[in-house]
Amino acid sequence: MSPSRLNADLHIHTHFSDSSLSPQDVVTQAYQNDIHCLAITDHDTVAGIAPTMELAKEYDIEVIPAIELSSCYHNKDIHILGYGFDYENIDIIEQFNVMQRERVTRMALMIEKLKAVGIDNITLDEVRSLACSDSVGRPHLARILKRKKWVKSLKEAFIRFLDEQGIAYVPKYKLSPKEAIDLIRKANGVAVLAHPMITRVDELIPRFVEDGLDGLEVYYPNISNTIIRHYTKITQKYGMILTGGSDAHGEGKDTTFIGKIKLPYENVVQLKNRISQR
Ligand code: AMP
Ligand code: ZN
Ligand code: FE
Ligand code: FE
Repeated sequence: MSPSRLNADLHIHTHFSDSSLSPQDVVTQAYQNDIHCLAITDHDTVAGIAPTMELAKEYDIEVIPAIELSSCYHNKDIHILGYGFDYENIDIIEQFNVMQRERVTRMALMIEKLKAVGIDNITLDEVRSLACSDSVGRPHLARILKRKKWVKSLKEAFIRFLDEQGIAYVPKYKLSPKEAIDLIRKANGVAVLAHPMITRVDELIPRFVEDGLDGLEVYYPNISNTIIRHYTKITQKYGMILTGGSDAHGEGKDTTFIGKIKLPYENVVQLKNRISQR
């Protein structure tokens, strides 16, 4: 197929972090939804990359190795996507392992907070059994709260218990945005600010560019053309690349799915050019 007709989805989670989708589900759904290139962007783990790459060969789908790191600036949760880095590098894997251990500790604390308000039938093992790595997160807990009928929807689980004002919320260990960018760039990757229209830290973007930020995730589900134009202009102003993706989580997020964003392949070419310059 002509490259101009290829579509990419550069933001997809698997069951190695907080999505319900296996690598096989990911490639099957990508194929069905006309996606020719995808990036696995699990939270704090690279465990889903190799199995997805292996399965994707059969469907002639290209897989770009990636990650989504949580960072924190003045109590604001800022997600940094890393693309094309050396995901088999021992040092970087060890860093991700540290973050996953912090996630398990934090999950135990959240379960304790739920117990304190009478929700006493959730165990750490049960939450861990939903993830195929130690990258456990709030969406896992939301799924269990719904399954055990403590809430009617994932949204209700976040509003009542898990979001920053929720009674079971515990902040997690986070890097600064600069540390996240450095980690990705030191492993020869490209760093992109995830969903800036959700995070809304426009005033910090010039500073992140100085720290080495390479791009913005301009295309994201359920946003207007005005927002797309706004962030496209910012990428042009700072000579950044632009990316896009669905942020699909399977059952973990009911407002999106693989292929909801179809990024033109020319944007992947620009991303790959940057990766090759590292
Ligand atoms: P964690 O990494 O454990 O802090 O969980 C973060 C994930 O929870 C994000 O990637 C989102 O997918 C999801 N999330 C955060 N806030 C909400 C919300 N209000 N409703 C639904 N999902 C959310
Ligand atoms: Zn997630
Ligand atoms: Fe995110
Ligand atoms: Fe995400």
